[in-house]
Amino acid sequence: MDDTPPSITADVTCRTPGCTANGITFRVGLYAAPAPPTYRAHCARCDTTITDIVEVPGA
Ligand SMILES: [Zn+2]
Repeated sequence: MDDTPPSITADVTCRTPGCTANGITFRVGLYAAPAPPTYRAHCARCDTTITDIVEVPGA
């Protein structure tokens, strides 16, 4: 049985003003969520939802 959810590799960038990671892009693996938005990421520094998610095809 294969329950592995679909996933992508993406470059995510925190845009929270004042966050120490603001403007810094991290490459991460994201799993598809059952409801939109399909791909979600949280900043590890400020724990804010990151909206700047760019899928990296073929990564
Ligand atoms: Zn942040």
